[in-house]
Amino acid sequence: MKYAKNILETIGNTPLVKLNKLTESLPCLVLAKYETFNPGNSVKDRMAVKMIEDAEADGRLKPGGTIIEGTSGNTGMGLALAAIVKGYKCVFVMADKQSKEKVDVLRAVGAQVVVCPTNVAPEDPRSYYSVSKRMAEETPNAWYVNQYDNPSNTQAHYEGTGPEIWEQTDGKVTHFVVGVGTGGTISGVGKYLKEQNSNVKIWGIDTYGSVFKKYHETGIFDENEIYPYVTEGIGEDILPENVDFGIIDGFTKVTDKDAAVYTQRLAKEEGMFLGNSAGAAIKGVLQLKEHFKKDDVVVVLFHDHGSRYVGKMFNNDWMKAQGFLEE
Ligand code: PMP
Repeated sequence: MKYAKNILETIGNTPLVKLNKLTESLPCLVLAKYETFNPGNSVKDRMAVKMIEDAEADGRLKPGGTIIEGTSGNTGMGLALAAIVKGYKCVFVMADKQSKEKVDVLRAVGAQVVVCPTNVAPEDPRSYYSVSKRMAEETPNAWYVNQYDNPSNTQAHYEGTGPEIWEQTDGKVTHFVVGVGTGGTISGVGKYLKEQNSNVKIWGIDTYGSVFKKYHETGIFDENEIYPYVTEGIGEDILPENVDFGIIDGFTKVTDKDAAVYTQRLAKEEGMFLGNSAGAAIKGVLQLKEHFKKDDVVVVLFHDHGSRYVGKMFNNDWMKAQGFLEE
């Protein structure tokens, strides 16, 4: 018999799928690393399990402990699945701009969810960074995950996602394009691919309202770059330790409107029902057209599933209210 011993064993080994219609104007092959095949429906399952296992190994996380994290939802889902299998409790602190579906889903898998205001500075005591740190200090036998600065996040992608992409493309990958939040995905995959072939180009997708692109180009942390935005999962108002700016060749910024419209287009034109950062990522690939030539193999990573966005990017009343649909 062939079966996984528990749900965590099904994480990883996701398919690589060719984009067809949306990428017609590009000269090269564009392949999507399709991470919704993970059991929590996102790439984050990979790093959630790795962060837990590394914390177990060095005693930061003890039997029966409480896992505490500030998460926009996907990391929480991965942590919650692992916590169920391994016998831990979970408390997740989220910003109120995240979709209601994400909160509901985390509660469905038994986590306690605390919702905080989005538009306050990270150092404000009401911010989800501050609240999650405070709860970690005040809860007995708690472990604060800190996906932004936890090196196991990047390591999961260096050990798993990167080698999978290299093998699935027979080493022919020339560009890797991916949205950047904590930086774990781009830094782990990017490091692995550049070690195999230093000519592979690594491109990050950023949002308007986030500091990454300007910081990468100038070395300046410019607070004028920080303002509220709608796109979920990517962009930051901090510099996470997991973003390895040295392995990133460039960033391109995608507007909230384009990210939302392309999230719908992926579903309708490719049959790929995916989250908002996938829309941003594929629009980013199109924006980078001038960097690609005929025999290039561009891999774009799609982080999460469309079901988490049915009340927003897949709801045309919401889209119209945002000014994202013309009529
Ligand atoms: N897209 C989505 C939907 C996410 O949840 C995240 C994680 N915040 C990202 C993109 C960015 O991935 P990473 O944190 O590895 O940079």
